[in-house]
Amino acid sequence: MIKPDAVTDGFSGPIIQQIEDAGFRIVAIKKTKLSPEDAGRFYAVHAERPFFQSLCDYMSSSHIIPMVLEKENAVEEFRTLIGSTNPAQAAEGTIRKRFARSLESNAIHGSDSDENAAIESNFFFTEQELNG
Ligand code: GDP
Repeated sequence: MIKPDAVTDGFSGPIIQQIEDAGFRIVAIKKTKLSPEDAGRFYAVHAERPFFQSLCDYMSSSHIIPMVLEKENAVEEFRTLIGSTNPAQAAEGTIRKRFARSLESNAIHGSDSDENAAIESNFFFTEQELNG
């Protein structure tokens, strides 16, 4: 998911280019906006963290671009491509290093397991959008 800061900053194009250049196939994609409640459901695992409210406000502040991506070993390879959560610590050339604003506004989200990738795909897309 390309996050609000990167969409607002006009980095959607180069981010998608970098994702495709790395060999990922885009299965589904759209531009949409989360309500604060949607953002809270998406990040429910962080509900007890001190930054949760701020994260929900940020994630619902503007448009996002969720995508379903396909590649061998996709979860691990995508996490490598996007870099560390904190862009200041992300490796040179990673998406977060290149495009993120800050620890919170860090340009992109990547699922952390195949199980969560399936849950998050269904959060954003219908069965028809995923298989059509
Ligand atoms: P990710 O899997 O690399 O996205 O990292 P996490 O699952 O740990 O955190 C989810 C998201 O919460 C991150 O991508 C950031 O947008 C935000 N976040 C994580 N840690 C912090 C923090 O310490 N402060 C703030 N303000 N936001 C954070």
